[in-house]
Amino acid sequence: MRHQRKVREGAAMVSRVIPVDPFDLVIFGGTGDLARRKILPGLYRRFVAGQMPEGARVIGAARSDLDDRGYREMVGEALDEFLPKSARDTKAMKAFLERLSYIAVDATGVDGWRDLGKAMREDVVQAFYFSVGPSLFGAIAERLHKYKVARPEARIVVEKPFGRDLKSAKELNATLAAHFDEHQIYRIDHYLGKETVQNLMAVRFGNTLFEPLWNAKYVDHVQITVAEEVGVGGRGAYYDTSGAMRDMVQNHMMQLLCLTAMEPPTRFEADAVRDEKLKVIRALDPVERSNIVRGQYGAANGHASYADDVDNPDSRTESFIAMRVDISNWRWKGTPFYLRTGKRLKARMSEIVVHFKETPHSIFDEDAGRHANVLAIRLQPDEGMDLRVTIKEPGPGGMRLVDVPLDMTFADALGPEAAEVPDAYERLIMDVIRGNQTLFMRGDEVEAAWAWTDPIIQGWTDRAERPLPYDPGGAGPADALMLLHRDGRRWREIAV
Ligand code: NAP
Repeated sequence: MRHQRKVREGAAMVSRVIPVDPFDLVIFGGTGDLARRKILPGLYRRFVAGQMPEGARVIGAARSDLDDRGYREMVGEALDEFLPKSARDTKAMKAFLERLSYIAVDATGVDGWRDLGKAMREDVVQAFYFSVGPSLFGAIAERLHKYKVARPEARIVVEKPFGRDLKSAKELNATLAAHFDEHQIYRIDHYLGKETVQNLMAVRFGNTLFEPLWNAKYVDHVQITVAEEVGVGGRGAYYDTSGAMRDMVQNHMMQLLCLTAMEPPTRFEADAVRDEKLKVIRALDPVERSNIVRGQYGAANGHASYADDVDNPDSRTESFIAMRVDISNWRWKGTPFYLRTGKRLKARMSEIVVHFKETPHSIFDEDAGRHANVLAIRLQPDEGMDLRVTIKEPGPGGMRLVDVPLDMTFADALGPEAAEVPDAYERLIMDVIRGNQTLFMRGDEVEAAWAWTDPIIQGWTDRAERPLPYDPGGAGPADALMLLHRDGRRWREIAV
């Protein structure tokens, strides 16, 4: 009980709300799917948490012909649709909606820009969220200056995809750099806003327990899995031009790999953290063909095949990829990182799993078996960590060993407050208002990630390679299992 109370005192820290300065947040694409599903519900939660001060305002901007009232109605419907019932409070929703206004703006034309300029206030933080397709980034950045909407210290937030190769990422960076300094640009990767991802840094750099073991001498290998149960859904047309490598590996999984593999930064500060991540990306070896397995889901269990989902019978785009990645630096030489992501797999599950080496010599009988510690950092479904420790199986009968979990599901350990932690978008938007870039990608980081990714994609494109078919509801093509078997290892089961 005493222990429980102590842990809960810690939980109070988790839900502590740090006030932010008054702000004007303009959401370009304020009528779109991302704004309705993530950004606006996230802002509502922050409002309820007391983090939107009196002077905080949100301005929706898109071409649709709406007035403030129409926009508030639209957002109200989105909150009803996308917030769980428990989070909806009629009074709070009404008060939140009053903070919203709408200005019809054409990103590529002249309409609305002067009105937007007039609506901006002088003495508050200014942030512009580009929740529109990347082809509009340049036009918006240019007009924000041309029509004197943005002040010199304004911040802009840009969404993935940040380019589809090194060339387009460089062009995009140059377009934004023509109007904004790097310290004003917030490239969102919402994986970095997840509680567990930040906990990975706390566990690594806030404890002495793991860091001495966090290297090739003690870590056998690392597995990073982002498995989805769903198919491409309504995103088929876009996804077919992208595939798992561009959609998941180059950004989200790369970030997870970097945070797992990086050296301790000197401080938990934007450039210190991002410098270390960049060094990891630059140390990644090129990936040989034999270390990559690409797959595409077939039809089964009443679900359409990938080709049918994207309406492209000859599609060669991968909906699954597994790969072995090696890092050439002192810490990790010889310890592979295995990445795996795909759609229509057995379960929705994301985790980083650090498999430690077996003890160098076993003092126990052969019957005791061989054991190794495993640290699993779960991003979903239940955010938390699980450390497998080897102990003696209880009872008589000699020294039989068994692996048991030291489980730390946040919701169990920290009590109900843990369920209240902000979701990734909420946290990241508030970081933009605070001017904290630590959890955002820097331009050189994105370019380095593409520089590593491009030759891999070019390889299979040049070979006109077809992905291997796999059955929905499993773990991807059999060759993905072989990728680890070959090295004498096994994937963790995809399960919730
Ligand atoms: P969407 O539903 O198609 O919304 C696009 C928004 O842009 C709409 O509000 C649209 O409103 C506005 N728009 C289009 N052309 C415009 C123009 N010329 N001037 C002003 N506004 C214009 O797209 P989305 O899914 O919200 O995605 C937005 C961005 O986020 C994309 O870059 C996407 O890749 C990225 N993203 C989305 C998700 C997601 O879950 N949806 C996840 C990650 C990243 P009007 O038609 O009224 O102008």
